[in-house]
Amino acid sequence: QENILEMQELKKHFPVKTGVLQRTTGHVKAVDGIDIAVKKGESFGLVGESGCGKSTAGRTAMRLYEPTEGQITFDGEDISRKKEKDLFNLRREMQMIFQDPFSSLNPRKTVGSMLAEPLKVHGLYKNQNERKEKIQEVMGRVGLNPSFTNRYPHEFSGGQRQRIGIARALVLEPKMIIADEPVSALDVSIQSQVLNLLDDLQDEFNLTYLFIAHDLSVVKHFSDRIGVMYLGHMAEIADKTDLYDDPLHPYTQALLSAVPRSHPRERTRERITLTGELPSPANPPSGCVFHTRCPHVMDVCKEIVPQMREVKPNQYVACHLYE
Ligand code: SF4
Ligand code: MG
Repeated sequence: QENILEMQELKKHFPVKTGVLQRTTGHVKAVDGIDIAVKKGESFGLVGESGCGKSTAGRTAMRLYEPTEGQITFDGEDISRKKEKDLFNLRREMQMIFQDPFSSLNPRKTVGSMLAEPLKVHGLYKNQNERKEKIQEVMGRVGLNPSFTNRYPHEFSGGQRQRIGIARALVLEPKMIIADEPVSALDVSIQSQVLNLLDDLQDEFNLTYLFIAHDLSVVKHFSDRIGVMYLGHMAEIADKTDLYDDPLHPYTQALLSAVPRSHPRERTRERITLTGELPSPANPPSGCVFHTRCPHVMDVCKEIVPQMREVKPNQYVACHLYE
């Protein structure tokens, strides 16, 4: 299966500025050398605690940030160093759904004008009637009343606002959507509705998803493959079933032990509680970045960065236990 998005050795560091002179005194290594390949048509779940760099990875992948190092390829094209003016196609083909449907929508714009804007920018549906038809069609498709084009965001509920966010991503008919915790700000009762909608849309429009989440329960039913990220690095990448049935990286094991079982027949997992604080990405530990909290830490872990290797078919793990 062909890859639509590849991140190779991708790094995104942010300068830390201090003092009245705002001198750069260090760098937050938000993403510090990750390799991810997302296949056409799949849903790839990118999971990790807050601060692990998953959102930065997603934003860098769609060139909202310029990468510090490494390469991003989208649909066969190297987009790593392109200037904004040369990203016109990308700005149509890759869309983002944001976490917070409250702050990501302009409160002074009606839904109709919010959805019309990207169409105008990209010169699509120039005829006003056709444009209106397109907007109403997309609204209907995401479960919004198509006659509500003149309403403002505050007139909608949280779940409906996220549907507006989804409509805005969908109206340009993208190939790929990066969804950054699209349901974590919503009531639990609404979450599965929105997840089901995203799932249906994927099949209908042949979409590829990079789905960012902070725990494994949200991506459980939704993703084909899952990548687990910790402090700017990938810990493990595997097919969903392999990752759930036999997690290999100690960090994945800990994350998974916190996911409640959804079926009584499912294997009971002993709860693994990680001790110690999440280190700062401005000053990450040497060797394996997980070594300060790993229950299996060995001497080598403090010295040498473990490389991703295929430990079982299609299951990639960065851990010295498997070398
Ligand atoms: Fe733990 Fe060492 Fe593996 Fe890192 S490399 S996860 S510290 S065992
Ligand atoms: Mg699907």
